[in-house]
Amino acid sequence: MSYATPIRLAMAAMAAGLPAIAAAQFTLAPLPYAADALEPHIDKMTMEIHHGRHHAAYVNNLNAQLKTFPELANLSLEAMQGQISKFNVAVRNNGGGHYNHDLFWKLMAPEGQRGKPSGALEAAIAASFGSVDEMRKRFDQAALGRFGSGWAWLIVTPEKKLAITSTPNQDNPLMDLPDIQRGTPILGLDVWEHAYYLKYQNKRGEYATNWWNVVNWNEVSRRYDAAVK
Ligand code: MN
Repeated sequence: MSYATPIRLAMAAMAAGLPAIAAAQFTLAPLPYAADALEPHIDKMTMEIHHGRHHAAYVNNLNAQLKTFPELANLSLEAMQGQISKFNVAVRNNGGGHYNHDLFWKLMAPEGQRGKPSGALEAAIAASFGSVDEMRKRFDQAALGRFGSGWAWLIVTPEKKLAITSTPNQDNPLMDLPDIQRGTPILGLDVWEHAYYLKYQNKRGEYATNWWNVVNWNEVSRRYDAAVK
């Protein structure tokens, strides 16, 4: 009995004159903190399933598209979003899903590492929305107003202004799609039910309110600085 390992399959393909099977290009990074580090606001089991199953599935499904679109292997995840219209719906959904989740984990942090908005970010928020509280109010409206699955975003527009927007499914503001308000996301909230259902059931508003407690303002401020450079 022989084993159908990837290496054996690749060797068999080479022997048959077929191209070797491409190595998996995109990988699931570990969470940047322990799965229970966001408790009690985001529970450990939700984090484990969200990262280990949902995010992992986007990575696996994106890698499966490398056979159809080998050029994806030459693109950074971020660059892929900006030319997503060149690909199919599977790349849009899973490439978007991989980018969005990779970002989402970094936008949250354990207690003691969350910081607060930098002076520059706070001034920009005040200029665009009046205050941080008012920005949060509008962001929450975007999160609650998104029908079905999707994301709420705080973005830096091409004019270097802040704006709040939302996208359906796994779309994001970097995508070159006609119905998307484009910009650089510096904060984003996953409002798919898989992000909150175990702890909050159908109460998306309660999830969104509590999520503000775990926002990594150090990272949001850093992303703001990079986006306005
Ligand atoms: Mn998700």
